[in-house]
Parts: sequence; C-alpha cells; structure tokens
Amino acid sequence: MKILVINAGSSSLKYQLIDMENESLLAKGLCERIGIDGRLEHKPQNGKPVFASEMNFPTHQEAIEAVLEKLVSEEYGVVSSMSEIGAVGHRVLHGGAEFTKSCLVDDACEAAIRKCFPLGPLHNPANLMGIKACQAVMPGTPQVAVFDTSFGMDMAPKAYMYALPYEYYEKDSVRRYGFHGTSHRFVSARALELTGKKPGTRVINAHLGNGSSLSASIDGKCVDTSMGLTPLAGVPMGTRSGDIDPSIIQYLMTQNDLSIDEMMTVLNKKSGVLGISGVSSDFRDLDNAAAEGNVRAQLALDKFAYEVKKYIGAYIAAMGGVDVLTFTAGVGENSSSMRASICEGLECFGIKLDPEKNKGRGEIEISADDSDVRIFIIPTNEELMIARDTLALVQG
Ligand code: AMP
Repeated sequence: MKILVINAGSSSLKYQLIDMENESLLAKGLCERIGIDGRLEHKPQNGKPVFASEMNFPTHQEAIEAVLEKLVSEEYGVVSSMSEIGAVGHRVLHGGAEFTKSCLVDDACEAAIRKCFPLGPLHNPANLMGIKACQAVMPGTPQVAVFDTSFGMDMAPKAYMYALPYEYYEKDSVRRYGFHGTSHRFVSARALELTGKKPGTRVINAHLGNGSSLSASIDGKCVDTSMGLTPLAGVPMGTRSGDIDPSIIQYLMTQNDLSIDEMMTVLNKKSGVLGISGVSSDFRDLDNAAAEGNVRAQLALDKFAYEVKKYIGAYIAAMGGVDVLTFTAGVGENSSSMRASICEGLECFGIKLDPEKNKGRGEIEISADDSDVRIFIIPTNEELMIARDTLALVQG
C-alpha cells in the first residue's frame, strides 16, 4: 500500500508518499505560503524532474489538489492514479490525554483534535485543516491522525504531574504531555531492534535539532520526557528558553513593561542559543562563530551541552540506569562536537564515546568498545513512523 503522509502547518504543508511494500520514499515536497500567494516544491524520487514554482493556494484544499495532481502527472508523477494511495497519515501535534495511540479519523477523533486547540493553538487548527482538505479531495480514502503527544501517555503520574494545585490538572488538563513523540517512538524502537530487544532495555534518546527534547523509555514505553504542557519546556533550544525559573516571567514583564504576548515571544522566539549568543539559532553558525573566538556563541554551545547532560543524568536516576543512549535530529545526527561535549564527563555512568566512530554519519554505533552503555546515532524518520501507524490502522 502507498501512504501519503501530511504535516500541515498554518500556511505550509509538507508531504511524503511512501510505498509500504518496502518502506521506500516515492516523492516528497512542500507547499508554502498557503493563503498568501503559494509555492509548490515537488521532488519525485524516481528520476523525474523536480517541480518548483509559484502556485496559487487560497486554502489547504487547493494545496492538496496541487500535490495530488503532481503525484499522478505524466511529467512529475510517481503513481498512475490516485486510487493507488491507500490512506493518508497526518501529523497532529496535540491529542491531549485521550489519545494514547494513533487513530482513524472519525467524528470523535476530530472533536478531540478540536478540544486540544487551546493546548496547541498554533498547530492543531492547522493539522485539522490538512485533514479536512484531504477528506474533501480524497473522499473515501482513510485518514489517520498520529499525535506527537501519544508517546508521553505512558508516563506515570509522578512524571507527568506538575506540583500545582490539583484542580488545574483536573479542570484545565495541565500536565506534562511531551512532544517529538513520533520521533522518540521511532528512534527508541530502532534502538531496541539494534540491541536485540532485551526485556527491560532502558533508552535515553536525545532529539537535538532546532527544537530539542530528551526522553527516557523502558522497552519503548516513555518513562519521562523533557518537553511539558507545551514544547517550550526542557533543554534550551534554537530560540526557545527551555526550563527557567517561572518567576523570571513576572520580573521581566515588570522591569521591561512587557505584555504577556511580548513575554511569550521572548521565550519562544528570542531565547535559547540565539538569545545567549546573539548570533544565530543555527548550531552551524554557532560553531563557526565560536571557532572565530565569539565568547557568547561558545557559551550558548556550552549551556546547551550542559543542560542536555543534566537531563541524561536525571533520566539515569529516573530509570535506575541506562543501557542505550541515542542521538537524533539535525544537531544530534550531524554535530560530532556537540555529541562529544554532551558525553564528556558521563564516563562515571558507563557512557564512553569512541572519538573516531563519533566522526561518522548515518545510523551507526559510536560507543567505545569498553563503554557499558551503547551509544548510537539513529537518524529519525517521523514520516515513516506515521506511515507505519497508518498502515497498521488501515489494515486493522
Ligand atoms: P532539525 O530541527 O532537526 O532540522 O535541526 C536543525 C538544526 O540542526 C540546526 O540548528 C542546524 O544548524 C543543525 N545542524 C545541521 N547540520 C549540522 C552540523 N553539521 N553541525 C551542527 N549542527 C548542524
């Protein structure tokens, strides 16, 4: 079966078409500036040319129509007709506490996605727009929602509760949900495969990209994860602060006469390694600036490594040890210097990198032969995870 994977944002839509016979990518692409002017980049993987052009997309529906037209077209296509697409899998940010697993989209699922609008105000409405657009253009094709939060639903109450008045948990659903769940699920499952699926295997996964989060899992079930009610919590990120003393918010708002919206913009868009360095949110820029002697760029890198290291230590404590440490996403997969900084000093926990192996790329083991903990780079593949869930649900 061929499965279309959709990640719809408020003005963009990323897609991949995956052949589940051999889990191969047939085409991928991106619709941008939906509702503004519109642009489509479509990349067939069968040797046909890339299509990239301005196109008018008043809504997500026209964007999906354009994607389907390209997928079946003579010049850029990868399938002969739309009927070859057996199902559509959608990335949905927030499933609240109701969705512990992916689900076929029906009225109840749609209602739950809507109910989570306040918890994911930027993403959930856009994700639902993507679903509605596909329903309109591909009636009869099953749609599946895959939630970024569902991985975190295995956490025990002591891990997901905040120490706030209990009524806010009951009344306002305030708890740790965790995000990047599809990536953590993919990588932790792969880590188990690579290490022989021994029962009780404890995995710490560091998903380090522009957004970053860590997870602790045993047998693929989430024990704890660093993002919280929203993706603002945890380690510092490209532009997000990660964990801070909550009183800083009131203090800075008072000192600088900031509104709550302005304060949230500071925390979401002006903080993290960008905020500390004043240089960039991009770790490559920080590496270059630090190499040229920029002290704040080096501090931003040091702060990031230090906080990730602290989370690893915390998760070792939470699980009573660790068997496998994995690195994934843009920084985790590509920055050997960041992996080395993070692992430096963790030898006391049996975590020992091999400096030569750590220079490698792709899916590889990078632990030293005498490391107690096995360390891997595992490239994440959220789209494939979505497609796998979709296939499983459609096949019943
Ligand atoms: P992601 O959000 O997973 O796409 O990751 C994006 C981040 O990965 C950006 O900050 C990039 O700078 C970073 N990144 C990608 N390649 C490298 C690299 N070779 N060295 C350091 N950082 C990298």
